[in-house]
Amino acid sequence: MSTFDSFDLHPRVVAGIKAAGYTTPTPIQTEAIPTVMEGRDVMGLAQTGTGKTAAFVLPILNRLIGGPRGTLRALIVAPTRELAEQIHEAIRLLGRKTGLKSATAYGGVSINPQINRFRQGIDILVACPGRLLDHMERKTVRLKKLEVLVLDEADQMFDMGFFPDIRRIVAQVPRERQTLLFSATMPPEIRRLTKEVLTRPVTVQVGRTAPAETVNHALYPVAQHLKTAMLMNLLHGTDAKSVLIFTRTKHRAKQLGVKLGKAGYRSASLQGNLSQNRRKAAMDGFRDGTFQILVATDIAARGIDVTRVSHVINYDIPDTPEAYIHRIGRTGRATRTGDAFTLATQEDKGMVRSIERLLGSPLERRHLDDFDYQAPAPKRNKEFARPPRPASRNRRPAGAAKSRKPWPQRKPSATSTANRRSHARRRPAVAA
Ligand code: AMP
Repeated sequence: MSTFDSFDLHPRVVAGIKAAGYTTPTPIQTEAIPTVMEGRDVMGLAQTGTGKTAAFVLPILNRLIGGPRGTLRALIVAPTRELAEQIHEAIRLLGRKTGLKSATAYGGVSINPQINRFRQGIDILVACPGRLLDHMERKTVRLKKLEVLVLDEADQMFDMGFFPDIRRIVAQVPRERQTLLFSATMPPEIRRLTKEVLTRPVTVQVGRTAPAETVNHALYPVAQHLKTAMLMNLLHGTDAKSVLIFTRTKHRAKQLGVKLGKAGYRSASLQGNLSQNRRKAAMDGFRDGTFQILVATDIAARGIDVTRVSHVINYDIPDTPEAYIHRIGRTGRATRTGDAFTLATQEDKGMVRSIERLLGSPLERRHLDDFDYQAPAPKRNKEFARPPRPASRNRRPAGAAKSRKPWPQRKPSATSTANRRSHARRRPAVAA
């Protein structure tokens, strides 16, 4: 097993590792750190939760520690402000004894404090593509001395439509540079970008394009209108310390957050319509345990680093198998274990099959004995009794059959029928 000592990092960088409390490098760190330190371009296939941030931050700190100060020499481009903040925090933590200065640049906040910060002199910039281009156009950021470029969560940046921006950024940074690209998945678009921006890269891969093995996956087949009731049942019967729930739309995230609050859970929702302050309050509250449950959309949840998420629940199935990997990357992070539950309706069968193909194994189907699967849809059939609006991408993956076959379910036992009756009495109005 490798140790951090074997990398021959500068003692001030080693001091940062100690301050962070890391004792053993994660697999991606073991593979990537020596290669990045050699100055090679790297294509890292790793999802969030594997320790990939330190895998590029440590060699960058090590490289910059010896050179001139206050000159921007490393640029990290990330899809969301949350991820940018997390990377920035990791740099501050790991680089606390190096004296190197890092700053962030992202939209949704005033540009002037960022400009002022740059004027004071920075060594590392963590930026989202749009705001970075703003700075480049205003000439408030100088990239002429750039030595290292990192593109983090490249697949997310592609999903969010950032590739034209990325290409414009890459066109304006020195050709002589080291480039590192990280992505959880490797669809053809990312391969193409890799060819364009990396030079003879070394590929570093952690496991397959599969989630951390510390995650237990389970699928709960259910009718659309019974999803909320089933969620409540799952939460009730689980020792769920820190639960991240995904919905497909902002509206559903908000509504579900409210419902959970009314049911007595300490919950918040995170969706794109929130102001920066409210987003931060929701994230901070979830991180420090004030909120036990956070309901979020994919976009809003990107890059969330909540090391102690115990459960990820897909209230709505994700739009792509890759998004599934990203979602559950939030549980079972680093060395912890976690559960990933997916509520799936008939319509989701094709997507379930695609996810199973990507994982390389079937998802375990679970049936709740004390749940009333036959409860009728409520009369006032509002948002939650209907399937969410179709996603922008084609939800049925190519080749997936349009089968109408019902989910295979175990026959209810005599006890479960009794339970079901009592359940129906207990909760007549929970459905949806
Ligand atoms: P990342 O994949 O970079 O988002 O990292 C996931 C989590 O693992 C973060 O909370 C890191 O602080 C933590 N982490 C990274 N490297 C190590 C390590 N070598 N030992 C323990 N925890 C780590």
